[in-house]
Amino acid sequence: MSGNPAVVMRVVASAYAVAEKAGSIVRSVLRSGELGIVQKTGVNDLQTLADRLAQQSICASLSRRFPKLTIIGEEDLPDEEAKEDLIEDGQAEDILQKTCPVQYSDVKEEELVVWVDPLDGTKEYTEGLLDNVTVLIGIAYKGKAIAGVINQPFYNYQLGAEADLGRTLWGIPGLGAFGFQLQEVPGERRIITTTRSHSNKIVTDCVDAMEPHEVIRVGGAGNKIVQLVEGKASAYVFASPGCKKWDTCGPEAILRAVGGELTDMHGNAYSYHANVKHMNSAGVLATLHNHQYYASRVPQSVLQALTSD
Ligand code: AMP
Ligand code: MG
Ligand code: MG
Repeated sequence: MSGNPAVVMRVVASAYAVAEKAGSIVRSVLRSGELGIVQKTGVNDLQTLADRLAQQSICASLSRRFPKLTIIGEEDLPDEEAKEDLIEDGQAEDILQKTCPVQYSDVKEEELVVWVDPLDGTKEYTEGLLDNVTVLIGIAYKGKAIAGVINQPFYNYQLGAEADLGRTLWGIPGLGAFGFQLQEVPGERRIITTTRSHSNKIVTDCVDAMEPHEVIRVGGAGNKIVQLVEGKASAYVFASPGCKKWDTCGPEAILRAVGGELTDMHGNAYSYHANVKHMNSAGVLATLHNHQYYASRVPQSVLQALTSD
C-alpha cells in the first residue's frame, strides 16, 4: 500500500516523526538545565519549557500538514506561530508501507481528533526520574482511540549511551503494535502499577482490594501502559480523577492493539470526541488480560466516589 496511503496511516506516520522531534526537544531542554518550571492549578501539576516547546512543535507540525485535524493539547499556550526550527515535516516510511485496517480506510482528516500530551510525567522529569517520561499522541475517530504513538525520550538512558537514547512505540487496533516486544507478566502474579505523586486513601484502598503480589509506584500514564505491554505490570489502577484524555488516548490505542483494555473503574470505556470533558473523572483501569477480575475487585465505596461520565 505504498501508492496512496489512507489518511489515518499518513497521520500516524507524521505523528511518529513528530513525537520523535518532541522527544529530542524534551532532551535538549533538560541538557540546557533551564527547565522553566511553572506550577499549574492542581497539586503536583507542573509545566516546564519542555512541555511548552514540545506541544508547540507537535501541534504546529501536524496542523501544517493536516489543517483539518482537530488537535487538543494539554498545555494552555498563547496563540503564537511556532518557530520554524520546531517544525517537523518527516513521516515514518515504514508506517506508510502498512495497510490501513479496512474500517478506517475511508476516514477523512476532518473526522479525526488528536490528543496531545507533549510531556507525560512532568513531575518526574523535574526530579530526574527520566524513564517515567513519555510524549503521547492519540488519534480518535468517532470517539474511539484508533491509533497511538508513545515516545520515550530517555529510553536506555541508564546505559549512558547518547546514540541509543529514546524509542517510539505505536499501534493501531486491527493492525498491531510496533517498536517494542510484547511480553506478559510471568505466572499468575498480580503486579499493580499506580501513581507515585497523586495518591490518596481511595487510590491505595483500591490497589489493596486487588490483592496484589506486588505494587509499583511510578510516574506517567504512558509509562504505566508501557509497563503493561512489556510484562512489567499486570494492571494499571488509578481510582481517582486526575488523568486526562491526552494521558489515555494514545496509550489506550496501543494497549488495545495488543488485546488489552482501558476503562474507568466501573469498566466503562472513555470517549475521545472533540467535545468531551478532559478529565477522566472515574479513574483509570488498564490491563493486558483479566480486566474483568480487576474490575470486579473495585470496592463499592470507590465506585460510589467515582461516577462514570
Ligand atoms: P501519575 O500516575 O500520577 O503520574 O499520573 C498520570 C498522569 O495523570 C500525569 O499526566 C499526571 O499529571 C496526571 N494526573 C494524575 N493525577 C493528577 C492530579 N491529581 N492532578 C494533576 N494531574 C494528575
Ligand atoms: Mg500526562
Ligand atoms: Mg503532560
